[in-house]
Amino acid sequence: MGLELNKIHIPGIREKMPLVISGPCSAETEEQVMETARKLSACGVQVFRAGIWKPRTKPGGFEGNGEKALPWLKQVKKETGMLVTTEVATPAHVEAALRMEVDILWIGARTSANPFAIQDLADCLTGVEIPVFVKNPVSPDIELWVGALERFNRAGIRQLGAIHRGFSSADQKIYRNMPLWHIPIELHRRYPMLPILCDPSHMGGRPELIAPLSQQALDMGFDGLMIESHVCPTCAWSDAKQQITPEVLHEILDHLVLREAVESTEILEGLRKQIDEMDDQLMDLLSKRMYISRQIAQYKKEQNMRIVQSQRYAEILDKRAEQGSRCKMDPDFVRRTFEAIHEESVRQQTDIFKS
Ligand code: PEP
Ligand code: MN
Repeated sequence: MGLELNKIHIPGIREKMPLVISGPCSAETEEQVMETARKLSACGVQVFRAGIWKPRTKPGGFEGNGEKALPWLKQVKKETGMLVTTEVATPAHVEAALRMEVDILWIGARTSANPFAIQDLADCLTGVEIPVFVKNPVSPDIELWVGALERFNRAGIRQLGAIHRGFSSADQKIYRNMPLWHIPIELHRRYPMLPILCDPSHMGGRPELIAPLSQQALDMGFDGLMIESHVCPTCAWSDAKQQITPEVLHEILDHLVLREAVESTEILEGLRKQIDEMDDQLMDLLSKRMYISRQIAQYKKEQNMRIVQSQRYAEILDKRAEQGSRCKMDPDFVRRTFEAIHEESVRQQTDIFKS
């Protein structure tokens, strides 16, 4: 099924500037909201975000200020002229947000994973003209994401957008949520008119990953970014590890390179991105392999065994070299690669023996 879409109307989008939605993970106090908003507005952010109802994985965390914080968003609009957006997860949230003239709604990853919750939200938005951004569900299931978009579209929401925030995986190393870029790329293939933003904050989970992920997303043709920003990231009541100050955001935005979509190199770019993603996966696998290797070292140390057991090493090399030639790779190349991996593995094991 296709999606019937109208252009999302966001006044003030700067020429050649992607849509930037930014603001704190949570609206904590009026002062924090206003101070952050003033600074973000000064760096050209078009839409201010702040979570008011926070879905927390575990109980006991800060679950948001609720309706009390809505007037702060209204004040942000009034004072800075930025549009405002917040996450809604229940019809009661939608009604409260609409009453307070929130301009854009977004659906969080935990909610878009639940078709019953999405249907309730879609039902209560029937006949309402408001842009809705749907974050990908926590699990890498494109149909669940598409299903959520379709439910809103069937309820008459025409100003729809998607936000790619990565997918959770049991054993993340580099990213808080795995990018799995092929999923939003497939979404774009199916619905070329659907704007897709990237949320590098929740994807990376660390400030230093925000710039490279943002650049990567723009290079891949994403339509904009949602980035968490807080006047004092380390004092944030939620997601303190990944937020950046408005000043740092300014720096990042200033350094983003906006590329022309040139027909002739698109294919090449797409292929290179696939290579980058595979390299990321390779790095992730290698680091997991080293982790197992360190566990082996711990065990060998306790059992008073030697680090290198040459028979096992020779077996690994032979097996992989032979497999390499079956997979159209030079067996020597495969041998050298595994020798290098083994060398690093032994180095790490030696460190454990020494400790
Ligand atoms: C958020 O944007 O603060 C949030 C909770 O994001 P997600 O739904 O992507 O986890
Ligand atoms: Mn957050």
